[in-house]
Amino acid sequence: MERILLSSPHMSQEGYEQAYIKEAFDTNWIAPLGANVTKFEEDLARMVGIDYATALSSGTAAIHLALKNIGLQQGDIVFCQSLTFSASANPICYEKATPVFIDSEPETWNMDPEMLRKAFEKYTPKAVIVVHLYGISAKIDEIKAICQEHNTPLIEDAAESLGTIYKGKWTGTFGDYGIFSFNGNKIITTSGGGMLVSNNKAGIEKATFWATQAREKARHYQHEEIGYNYRLSNISAGIGRGQLKVLEERVEKKRYIYQRYVEGLADIEDIEMIPDHDYERSNHWLSAMLIGPSSSVTPTMVMDVLDKENIESRPVWKPMHLQPVFADCDYIGGHVAEDLFNRGLCLPSDSKMTDQDIDRVIATIRSLWD
Ligand SMILES: *Cc1c(COP(=O)(O)O)cnc(C)c1O
Repeated sequence: MERILLSSPHMSQEGYEQAYIKEAFDTNWIAPLGANVTKFEEDLARMVGIDYATALSSGTAAIHLALKNIGLQQGDIVFCQSLTFSASANPICYEKATPVFIDSEPETWNMDPEMLRKAFEKYTPKAVIVVHLYGISAKIDEIKAICQEHNTPLIEDAAESLGTIYKGKWTGTFGDYGIFSFNGNKIITTSGGGMLVSNNKAGIEKATFWATQAREKARHYQHEEIGYNYRLSNISAGIGRGQLKVLEERVEKKRYIYQRYVEGLADIEDIEMIPDHDYERSNHWLSAMLIGPSSSVTPTMVMDVLDKENIESRPVWKPMHLQPVFADCDYIGGHVAEDLFNRGLCLPSDSKMTDQDIDRVIATIRSLWD
């Protein structure tokens, strides 16, 4: 049986990506700049409804430059959602600042606004990093309002949520800065890459400047700040331009896979799927499920039986406040993130899955309850 994957690269049937790559070859723009980079930025900005975007080598680089833009300095505090991938928090440490991790709430699995309020009673942070995990929007209205009350910049880690629309507005466009990732496992990919977006023109220009080695406007190589080599290649950007054309298709397919899991597992009381909401159009990047606390079946048992059937699955992100590398960091919250980690797992959500593939996953999971 062919392996069913969690989320693998899915190029367009029409070959858009290769056509843009060919354009780069034909014009010899094999460089970290060129028409593909510019067009990819413009196309994405228009699609998500934001004024400015800069294409970077990764989502992590985008978070790093967002933090530099808000003036993060050594010793500063940044509030960061605990339930996430480590890339949300690592750039805080690149600047020798200190993360304080915030618990999730069960309705979206993302940052709990109550806990964010509590954290503001204890600290004055330089920024807040919220994540839209697995493509489910955080309670972004509430979180944005709290940040505004405290005059604190908000960075939206939308690495997993490109295509998610919250109350008519795309995730990634609510904060002072938003970031997207085009890593190989994300909903669309450039093999590796990221995008920093904002309505702040000067901020995006500054990020592009830092991303190109902080080279000043001079004929000779003049440097007055430390720079980075963070720009996206014109080849990768070509893939991105092509992938943007099929983003809607990918979102539809991911939503379809989620819906089939919901229906196929509905009668098993022990199983609860990651929530869906009327107020949003989630991209459902990964369909995650939770197992009831009193069930005799554990996530490990489900992952083992799936693996035996050559089906990939994965635990929910391990919260940052439980990671050895962040052991010294403060944490504001209870046990929601930890509980989601203990009881959750991610099911294959590959946009190339057939109905038979989805049914095979469902039947394999059901075998543990039959
Ligand atoms: C993938 C991911 C990132 C990092 O993106 P890269 O492009 O891999 O650097 C950041 N945050 C979250 C939540 C992610 O899933």
